[in-house]
Amino acid sequence: AETRASQEWNGVGSTRDGHRVKVLANVGAAEDATAASAAGAEGVGLFRTEFCYLSATEEPDVAAQQAAYAAVLAPFSGKPVVVRTLDAGADKPLGFLNQEPEPNPALGVRGLRVAMDRVDVLDRQLSAIAGAAEQTGAQVSVMAPMVATAEEAAWFVGRARTAGIERAGVMIEIPAAALTAHEIFAEVDFVSLGTNDLAQYVFAADRQVGAVAALNDPWQPALLRLVALVGEAAGAAGKPAGVCGEAAADPVLAAVLVGLGVSSLSMNTAALTGVGAKLASVTRDQCVQAAQAALAAADPAGARTAARAVLA
Ligand code: PEP
Ligand code: MG
Repeated sequence: AETRASQEWNGVGSTRDGHRVKVLANVGAAEDATAASAAGAEGVGLFRTEFCYLSATEEPDVAAQQAAYAAVLAPFSGKPVVVRTLDAGADKPLGFLNQEPEPNPALGVRGLRVAMDRVDVLDRQLSAIAGAAEQTGAQVSVMAPMVATAEEAAWFVGRARTAGIERAGVMIEIPAAALTAHEIFAEVDFVSLGTNDLAQYVFAADRQVGAVAALNDPWQPALLRLVALVGEAAGAAGKPAGVCGEAAADPVLAAVLVGLGVSSLSMNTAALTGVGAKLASVTRDQCVQAAQAALAAADPAGARTAARAVLA
């Protein structure tokens, strides 16, 4: 059924009854962006800029950064692209930042915490992003990784606006940020849920350790309850909440996320058509019912089964 449905997506994300949901791609390099555009992505919901620099031993200068970003943005001229500022540290160490070894890198100086420590590095990156936006005509917004508090969100948005970038948001991937989504929305234009890290932190289960992978299941009702809090806060604020973690790539879970109040889904390119087609085959009301059923389930398998039954 999913194969048949996958031939039916027309490239504009929407439920069968016309509730709009942007279907976007996650990219890390120019090749990804070209492939995503060819596959019909409506834009980019997550450009992981650190992927451009994983092997760099020195910080690229602003001109070199601008060129690298522009190569990724070019296929999306006129379309929305969310550029995430460097998410260095933990599983993605960047050589040029000379970070101190830490006993618990996932809980250490990573993501926005690096930027708060090295404001000069952040400001050069924001300036390169602003330049690449102008050069390519992509509708660029910027987003900070690993934000824990509304105060951090406000600080980041201030730096972005100073760099001339109008739209700025943050990732919600730390449980504290989900729990304070109302306060965070007061400071930002949008949020995007990083369900990979959000699961890791809410279950205290390292995403790189296979032995605890069952806890990291994105169908966990506890994770879905955090998504629900953010979806409600988005509705109250009248601002968008997206999902850019792996959860968005599962067509049935994507429908559940829409039912929880999420208005854009960003995923690897291979998943675009399956998710777009699934959404086109269900109503918004079914998504809401599936979400309620999943939230009430006792475990991931129960949540999946309950949601499938509503969305079949
Ligand atoms: C996430 O944490 O869900 C996310 C999208 O960011 P990354 O996988 O790059 O940490
Ligand atoms: Mg993350």
